[in-house]
Amino acid sequence: YSVPKPSRLQDRREYDAAGADARVEQRTAGGLEAFENTPDTDPDLPGNRVWGRSIADRMVASDLGKTLVAEARVEDEAALQQVIERGIEASASWQALGVDERTRILHRAGEGLEARRAELLEVMGSECGKTLDQGDTEVSEAIDFAHYYAGLGQEVEKADGATFVQQKLIAVIPPWNFPTAIPAGGVLSSLAAGSAVVFKPASASARTGAIVADVLWEAGVPRDVLQFVQFADRSLGSKLVADERVDRLILTGSYETAEQFRKLRQDLPILAETSGKNAIIVTPNADFDLAARDVVQSAFGHAGQKCSAASLVVLVGSVAKSKRFRSQLLDAIESLHVGTPDSLESQMGPVIKAPDGKLLRGLTKLEPGQSWVIEPKPIESDHPLSRDADGTTKLWSPGVRQGVQRGSEYHLTEYFGPILGIMTASTLDEAIDIVNDIEYGLTSGLHSLDRDELEVWLDRIEGGNLYVNRGITGAIVRRQPFGGWKKSAIGAGTKAGGPNYLHGLGDWTDAPVAS
Ligand code: GLU
Repeated sequence: YSVPKPSRLQDRREYDAAGADARVEQRTAGGLEAFENTPDTDPDLPGNRVWGRSIADRMVASDLGKTLVAEARVEDEAALQQVIERGIEASASWQALGVDERTRILHRAGEGLEARRAELLEVMGSECGKTLDQGDTEVSEAIDFAHYYAGLGQEVEKADGATFVQQKLIAVIPPWNFPTAIPAGGVLSSLAAGSAVVFKPASASARTGAIVADVLWEAGVPRDVLQFVQFADRSLGSKLVADERVDRLILTGSYETAEQFRKLRQDLPILAETSGKNAIIVTPNADFDLAARDVVQSAFGHAGQKCSAASLVVLVGSVAKSKRFRSQLLDAIESLHVGTPDSLESQMGPVIKAPDGKLLRGLTKLEPGQSWVIEPKPIESDHPLSRDADGTTKLWSPGVRQGVQRGSEYHLTEYFGPILGIMTASTLDEAIDIVNDIEYGLTSGLHSLDRDELEVWLDRIEGGNLYVNRGITGAIVRRQPFGGWKKSAIGAGTKAGGPNYLHGLGDWTDAPVAS
């Protein structure tokens, strides 16, 4: 692997001053404002624009997504050929339009995302169980992508001469867990670089993807420049990626999926964010209040279904025996309100589908030496958003297991769900070794107020995004671009929300560094 320089966000105050304020600003405009000020328990309250409505009404509100998804269906190889040809042809006029007009269109897309924040929250809630706070942050991130890449597109233009190789057609295949922000990053950076895009959302979150595409079309991106597709069968996706006219693949998914695509075409430039198994180390020099809060948020935000989520906490030395830290952490987890995403009270929503395979194992089976500190349990409810089509519940309470041994399956495997494992280490060095044993290296966290410990950790830890004294999810566009190393990335060094994600699209070897 080529080793990317990790982004570092070391100063919590810096984050609070800039990152958090930026988001608060976005939060106060648009649909959520009305929502925050009105209780969802009374659907008839005036001003309850979206969130007071019944579930059935919300389904009606997302009909547009359904229609666009149906229209997007590519049935066979002949139709796929047309998609590719249309994209190649359209890329010429998109380039000819010029960077200034493209920039204007992308900024307009950012405004469009803001205007449709409530709609996006609603569809994300119903498709993938995203709670309102998580969805809100995600829409903000997508808006940040729009304005950031709109501005950066101008820089491609300045790099004239031999350095920038224009790419005509880019395939963007994002996952269901960030169905607004991840496609926004891939699609907007590609459009900013003057390329046409074929955007294939995960089928579980296709309606959200459709709204994102619709926002871009409304902002002025021609439909042939951004094509939104759904494939009638999986082989069409492979055929798209294998086609030599596709200049690049931007993918977020499992490492195995990325590898399959890589094998299809050796020469295909791939920019892939893949799996993660991430840990937060807590030393005796930590602020325990902060550490407990950040571990809970990182482990159970979006029911742990983020590549960036913490699924391990490694307690160093006396922390393992600290009753205070233990009760703070466990009380916080036990008091998390698990519920459907249409309620403001829900701090953790359902998982994307009723757990099976690896996740079910992680939620139900212990390995030798392990015990449940908090045993995860399925929660039965009649609410339609809590169940799969066959009636099996998707709502699980959070789980915590202790006694996780070095080298055990739990230590090394990504489960992608609401489970946290506790490991212990005698020293910080041992804790770092435990984390570095893992073949992935996406996010990593340290809770310590000791400068020397920080230096040791920064020097040794293997991870793409490193977070000190904050949660390890929620990367921030421009301020801390997102991407891993080791088996968490293919095409390492190109991070979503950073300049190389765009510049890399055109083999711009002299890419400027983020300021
Ligand atoms: N960018 C997200 C974060 O920083 C994670 C995206 C993912 O799970 O793929 O939390």
